[in-house]
Amino acid sequence: MSEATPTTLILGAGQAGGETALALRQLGYTGRIVLAGSETHLPYRRPPLSKAFLAGQADEASLLIRPADGWEKAEIEVRLGVTATAIDRAAHTVSFDDGQTVHYDHLVLALGGRVRPLPIPGGDAPNVYYLRNIADAQRLRDALAPGKRVVVVGGGYIGLEVAASAVKAGASVTVLEAAPRLLARVAEADLAGFFATLHRENGVDVQVGVGVTALEQDADAKVVAVMAGDKRLEADVVVVGIGLIPNTELAQAAGLAVDNGIVVDEFARTSDPAILAVGDCAHHAHPALGRRIRLESVPSASEMAKVAASVVHGDAPKAVATAPWFWSDQFNAKLQMVGMTDGHDAVVERRLPDAQGAAVFMLFYLRNGAVVAAASINRAQEFMAARELVGRRAIVDPARLADAATPLKTLLAELG
Ligand SMILES: Cc1cc2nc3c(=O)[nH]c(=O)nc-3n(C[C@H](O)[C@H](O)[C@H](O)COP(=O)(O)OP(=O)(O)OC[C@H]3O[C@@H](n4cnc5c(N)ncnc54)[C@H](O)[C@@H]3O)c2cc1C
Repeated sequence: MSEATPTTLILGAGQAGGETALALRQLGYTGRIVLAGSETHLPYRRPPLSKAFLAGQADEASLLIRPADGWEKAEIEVRLGVTATAIDRAAHTVSFDDGQTVHYDHLVLALGGRVRPLPIPGGDAPNVYYLRNIADAQRLRDALAPGKRVVVVGGGYIGLEVAASAVKAGASVTVLEAAPRLLARVAEADLAGFFATLHRENGVDVQVGVGVTALEQDADAKVVAVMAGDKRLEADVVVVGIGLIPNTELAQAAGLAVDNGIVVDEFARTSDPAILAVGDCAHHAHPALGRRIRLESVPSASEMAKVAASVVHGDAPKAVATAPWFWSDQFNAKLQMVGMTDGHDAVVERRLPDAQGAAVFMLFYLRNGAVVAAASINRAQEFMAARELVGRRAIVDPARLADAATPLKTLLAELG
């Protein structure tokens, strides 16, 4: 490539970084693309790390977003095992920990986040596990075995998925959640109640309102005593899933705005026109919601990657448009969730008969009669239509929404 060829440097070779690189080529971008990341793995999907991969039902190759030759064919220079240490915005360069410096015309920050450590004595004991990357998942998978006593600290989606996978591996599992209910930050009480029941029915000891105060490793580093107020539990394995800290330090040191993530507009642009941010590290404006959100989900990373690529490529950039959505798999329940439930004033349930012993239902969250969010359990067939209802903030008759005999497609068609 000639010296005049523009370079897009993408920092972070994860879901959002990898997809930005691929989206650029799909749009016909002919510049040089450098995709640089700290991990030694090619870009991979993290969701199976708490599900099929942890349960031993998926191998490492199946996690890859593209096999090695896919990156070569797309002429994307992937540099692995290198960590960016500084951005020089005036010189348009990034320095790396191996001494190299790369010039950029556009810089895309796809830095993800790191696990929030348990801020208590013993939080870093040898039998305490966190889950963010392949190495974490391999270590945890090796530790799970029939009869092992597993305590999961944190009743969020990742904690609950780990609990389900640990039960599958034959472990006996306790979930400790400090808040008064599961999924307190991320789901409404009705949905959280469904998951609490599901886990209890599958043998998980779910305890809410129990904040862990200390972990004590025994002398031969085999058993951890989990202290929670006046409670004491013994565990062979403790898994901590209490959230993510977005990786913003590089952006902050470069003088970019940071507030619960790297602040970007609906086009993934920071205050510096040459720098964009995507994925878990970005706190982005969402026009339909009328506010900024930072989402930790694959669909959000993918959408932002496409938005950023359209901006870098230059013609007709597309803003973030779709209602945010994600999924979670636990035992026999596949959850798909779309929209934001905050401010809803009514919930409509649409229930179908159980199928093969699994619940099948949808919950619609309404505000002033408009559908603002929906949760689907084992109803993937209708989830696309639910996404559209939420995307359009459709006003539909709640009685018909509740009636599973009326297809959602019919309701959509009636909206015109
Ligand atoms: C166990 C688990 C289960 C999940 N399950 C689901 C699910 O079911 N559904 C769903 O929608 N989402 C799920 N997610 C969330 C989803 O995986 C993330 O939202 C997604 O990976 C975000 O992509 P990202 O590129 O922003 O971050 P990441 O995929 O984390 O990639 C960021 C990369 O940047 C690298 N990096 C950081 N700093 C630097 C630096 N200075 N220099 C170079 N590289 C750097 C990191 O090493 C990392 O590889 C799950 C996540 C986890 C961990």
